[in-house]
Amino acid sequence: MSLWLNGIGVSRGIAIGRVQKLSGGDLEIPEYTIAEADVDAELRRFADAQARGREQLRQVRSQVPSGMGGAENEIAAFIDTHLLMMDDRSLTDAVVATIRSSRINAEAALKRQRDALMAVFEQMDDAYLRARRDDVKHVSARLLRILLNQERSLPVGDAEAPAGPPPEPSIIVSDDITPADIILLAQAGVAAFITEYGGPLSHTAILARSYGIPAIVGLHNARRLFRDGEAVIVDGDLGHALADPDAQALQFFHAKRNQQRERRAALSGLKDKPAISRDGVKIRLLANIELSEDATHAADLGAEGVGLYRTEFLYMNRKTLPTEDEQYEVYARVAASVKGPITIRTLDLGADKQVDSGARSGPTPNNPALGLRAIRLCLKEPDLFRAQVRALLRASAHGDVHIMLPMISSVGEYRQAMAFIAATREQLAREGATMAAHVPVGAMIEVPAAALAASLLARHCSFFSIGTNDLIQSTLAIDRVDDEVNYLYDPLHPAVLKLIRTTIEAGERARIPVAMCGEMAGDPRYTRLLLGLGLTEFSMHPASVLEVKRIIIESNVRALRAQAANLLETGDPQALEMLMAETG
Ligand code: PEP
Ligand code: MG
Repeated sequence: MSLWLNGIGVSRGIAIGRVQKLSGGDLEIPEYTIAEADVDAELRRFADAQARGREQLRQVRSQVPSGMGGAENEIAAFIDTHLLMMDDRSLTDAVVATIRSSRINAEAALKRQRDALMAVFEQMDDAYLRARRDDVKHVSARLLRILLNQERSLPVGDAEAPAGPPPEPSIIVSDDITPADIILLAQAGVAAFITEYGGPLSHTAILARSYGIPAIVGLHNARRLFRDGEAVIVDGDLGHALADPDAQALQFFHAKRNQQRERRAALSGLKDKPAISRDGVKIRLLANIELSEDATHAADLGAEGVGLYRTEFLYMNRKTLPTEDEQYEVYARVAASVKGPITIRTLDLGADKQVDSGARSGPTPNNPALGLRAIRLCLKEPDLFRAQVRALLRASAHGDVHIMLPMISSVGEYRQAMAFIAATREQLAREGATMAAHVPVGAMIEVPAAALAASLLARHCSFFSIGTNDLIQSTLAIDRVDDEVNYLYDPLHPAVLKLIRTTIEAGERARIPVAMCGEMAGDPRYTRLLLGLGLTEFSMHPASVLEVKRIIIESNVRALRAQAANLLETGDPQALEMLMAETG
């Protein structure tokens, strides 16, 4: 009998295949006592497992494909974290000690230490430390699979393909999948992923999107509800999975999948076409980048410039803060390599983005997303901010640099930051530094208060950029990295739409450009809606640029604006559905 199940669709597309369940973190771990004489052999077995784990991770790292719009750097960094943890003494010393003192097998000793470490991390509210808990879980799972000889549960490897018709594609069903494993699975040609945990901003989701593999996360009890080997359809657009589909459903989804494939193939021809709607409205498509190297790649994929360069990644994975000169060199190189504007966001540290280099000290606050982060941190730490602002102003001599201030919540705060930038510019001028005559400075609108006060802020800003990731989090009061409340993360909530419209309207009245750089801007499901709300600049993960461009080219913006105005007035769900549906 067919069974519909719902999770969170985090990577678009239709996949049809057979369930292959994978054990992730919760393997059956036997515990047994070993003889005194066998202790050394058991310690060797553990050391061998570590060596094999390291080898696997290095192999995966060398296989990370390039051309993933910058995600490859993030993946490599993630795998490096796991490599370091494989030798982390907080994990391994206790395992060795337990094998020696309790004379138990390596798997059981590892399980005890994993559980102890995870319990410690569990009690911490901080999102960064929660991520460390996941690292412990993932690295332990890899070592446990090796120790238990269950590595072959991953459908990868060197086995010869059996003769006969090609096997049906696998749809992986697991509690959770590590980024390293997702790379192996993607290379083994799996058709889709379904996991019980995780959210759209998890690394699993980012990777699945980069590989273009449909994925659903947060489908609780998936491993209990699906049977190994049964047929399943995954609709990554809607987050639906249909187990044991009947002939009619199969026919419908085959047709939908074929349509999607044809569309994707047609997209590559759009690279050099301008993003102009059917009724002649020019839309600007920009890229979000995390690392300086991503800038050139963004242009290859059809972006006209950079709408968000997240500089905090320059500050991560290091023990000291980057100096002004070091930053200047990076910003100047990026500015010179980008043809259009390059919007560089000042440091947005805090919340789920922490650094080791002492940018802030003191205990972790209970609500880091609402705490001393982003522009608040910069204004509190003038030396930190000054080094970056000086580097940015100096880099402005090399390209069309725009400076963007994150987490602005009031006019007073914005003006304080502007005064700081002006004073820094004067100082640089006195020193004889070369800078562009005018460097536009703008505010990210990602705090609901800033959206509501947008008309006042617009008088002081050269541009706005709407950060929907934080705007939605704060408007709907849900932690964007907590999968328990992810079901409430709704970009279509009327309150969110009103704040977006209010911001765009304020920009239009003040005649300043308004862009959007949150994930919503790169999600083709929302393109027509955003056009209807009046958005004319979209900044996104480079891999989404062409699909968003196609929708723009096929849209009639004037008609969408009329539909959106009606929607905002009536809040009619049917009007929303019609506006989002691709029918003209
Ligand atoms: C946002 O909040 O929408 C945004 C683009 O910034 P970040 O995701 O880096 O917080
Ligand atoms: Mg943000």
